[in-house]
Amino acid sequence: MPQPLKAAQLALFGGTPVRRDRLPYGHHEISDADVDAVARALRSDWLTSGPLIAEFEAAFAKVAGAPDAVAVNSGTAALHAAIFALGVGPGDEVIVSPMTFAASANAIVYQGGTPVFADVDPDTLLIDPDEVARKTTSRTRAIVAIDYAGQPCDYAALRAAAERPGAPRVPIVADACHALGARDHGRPAGSLADISAFSLHPVKHITTGEGGVVTTADPALAARMRTFRNHGISSDHHQRSAQASWLYEIDELGYNYRLTDIQCALGLSQLTRLPERIARRQEIAAAYSRAFASVPEIRPLALRPDVVHAYHLFVVQAELAGIGCDRQTLFAALRREGIGVNVHYIPVHLHPFYRRRFRTAPGLCPRAEAAYERILSLPIFPSMSARDLADVVEAVGKVLAAFR
Ligand SMILES: *Cc1c(COP(=O)(O)O)cnc(C)c1O
Repeated sequence: MPQPLKAAQLALFGGTPVRRDRLPYGHHEISDADVDAVARALRSDWLTSGPLIAEFEAAFAKVAGAPDAVAVNSGTAALHAAIFALGVGPGDEVIVSPMTFAASANAIVYQGGTPVFADVDPDTLLIDPDEVARKTTSRTRAIVAIDYAGQPCDYAALRAAAERPGAPRVPIVADACHALGARDHGRPAGSLADISAFSLHPVKHITTGEGGVVTTADPALAARMRTFRNHGISSDHHQRSAQASWLYEIDELGYNYRLTDIQCALGLSQLTRLPERIARRQEIAAAYSRAFASVPEIRPLALRPDVVHAYHLFVVQAELAGIGCDRQTLFAALRREGIGVNVHYIPVHLHPFYRRRFRTAPGLCPRAEAAYERILSLPIFPSMSARDLADVVEAVGKVLAAFR
């Protein structure tokens, strides 16, 4: 580890940290109204498969600008349902960004598909449409694009990139797990791709503990995903009870990916506060951007024109070559200063499972790999205080100054 000249002030080398308690990089927020909503659900007749499922789905669809939403029990299940609904199977290739949580690619593998990693734009870290065009073949069955950090991809460019004369249209799945509340040219995340997948994990914009949602404008895809989340059963228990019938049939292999009414009660209550939460995330991001505008070593991600960014993450690329520091040292020094920085993500194709199963290796996506050496996620969540934010800026300044 490089030893800076003014090292002694850094907590990493025994100095006093900027803060004693560690500020996390993300945190959920639960209100009294959320607790009351969950308590009401617990006292109702339905703990699962009850009326709150459809109510939550309708409210979510509205926010996502989509005709239909299907609630499932994780963001991973949402991605799996999307890949299933598009009919991906053995021999099919699905193009995916490596700069994501592994679940985006795992969902392809669950259905026997082959993930084909397409490199990212070096400034936005969004999947590059030119790379998608380069990796599209006659076996390409779908594209999974990640709205990295909360900024929607350029879906029009991706659609054009995957077009091949005489070949069937390649559907696009948005992994919108970072992007609830984001917009592109006024259109909300959830309405930009054939299917969009969201996560309701506590670090995301709204939470149900664990949970996920898929949105689509295609009623056939929505129906397939509803069947898939319920073991592949082709009629639901409400229909059966209305028809006084015990008959159900497994039409295709599905899973139990159902979200509970208890969770939907929480989701409905959380959803009412989404606009103010996005606004607060944008305020924090703007304050970071102002603070780092004059710091050459800290480069926030580039913004696409005319997007509303949901800022699930605030990612910067650390350019440290000039000051004899490196990202690992910056990371460790900030953690010791009490700042819960993180790294999102290890490029998926570098994980041992992918190397073994798909023979992927370093060099496959050089821009994602180079970005991985530089990226750092700074704390961002709605209940962060002005003091918390000032601590992050102070700690970054302190560490860089020690090396300059
Ligand atoms: C959170 C996340 C997921 C998975 O969501 P879970 O709800 O944890 O299963 C998938 N993709 C991305 C990009 C995510 O951030």
